[in-house]
Amino acid sequence: MGNRLFVVIPCYNEEEVLPETSRRISEKMRALISAGKIAENSRVVLVNDGSKDRTWEIICGLHKKDSLFSGVNLSRNRGHQNALLAGLLTVKDLADMTISMDADLQDDINAIDEMVDKYLSGCDVVYGVRSSREKDTFFKRFTAESFYRLIRNLGGEVVFNHADYRLLSRRALDALSQYGETNLFLRGIIPMLGFKSDIVTYERGERFAGESKYPLKKMLAFAVEGITSLSAKPMRLILGLGAIMLLFGLISLIISIAGGSSAAFNFMTFSIWAVGGLILISLGVVGEYVGKIYLETKKRPRFIVESFLHED
Ligand code: UDP
Ligand code: MG
Repeated sequence: MGNRLFVVIPCYNEEEVLPETSRRISEKMRALISAGKIAENSRVVLVNDGSKDRTWEIICGLHKKDSLFSGVNLSRNRGHQNALLAGLLTVKDLADMTISMDADLQDDINAIDEMVDKYLSGCDVVYGVRSSREKDTFFKRFTAESFYRLIRNLGGEVVFNHADYRLLSRRALDALSQYGETNLFLRGIIPMLGFKSDIVTYERGERFAGESKYPLKKMLAFAVEGITSLSAKPMRLILGLGAIMLLFGLISLIISIAGGSSAAFNFMTFSIWAVGGLILISLGVVGEYVGKIYLETKKRPRFIVESFLHED
């Protein structure tokens, strides 16, 4: 079992954090190399996800100065999940293990040691799990935790409070590369791979510079993506909803026969709006899946690599 490590970091408009991030990560890598835990030719792969700022120039500069840094330049912005996948798949045949993490170092890089230890003791997948969400706002904490719960109730398999900070062995990454879906939700797919896995807990810090690249709108889109790519249950729930509404219709019939006309009238006007709304929502949910089928049948590439800077 080799121990060449590739740390894969997607970067979108990260010129503010890259100098500091690269400094800290190279310190960590050198320490691991001198401790003999990872191979000397281990690398840090910075994936430029179509940034509009100087991110790619910075990555090129880092690579030129230090062969520890490799760079993958995507042809355009494809979003965090695809950028991460691009990095992972590009180095698939070079790495014995990969660790994915964010550019802003919100994931504590000291957890890398423990991840590597677990890999060396035979784990193929090591999940980084946040020990607490104290630093998050109440809103973020509440929505995130409800999201994990919802996914579980819908039959998806996710690791609670785990985002995309994880170690994958070469075998696990090989398995992942066989999942060709366009609608990719890594967090839900990795647990499906199987293999021996373990978790490492860490304290998640705050972004030390720059702004979050995940505004609420992107977060909601990501949640919908996650749910619909893992489970078809929402469509079945609609069936249940239809049955309940049929019952409502019967009740309104009874009311209008038995009661005075005004109660029935109120109920009628309410029903018209409610039924209309529910039909539209149902159509929307079905449409979401139909849209997914449409995209999957096209089999478009999930990312296009424009260039790969790497010294073996
Ligand atoms: N990111 C990316 N492409 C995007 C948006 C984000 O590669 O379209 C990267 C970003 O550079 C960072 C990681 O995804 O390394 C997580 O983003 P961020 O820290 O902004 O998200 P948050 O921590 O606020 O959820
Ligand atoms: Mg962040």
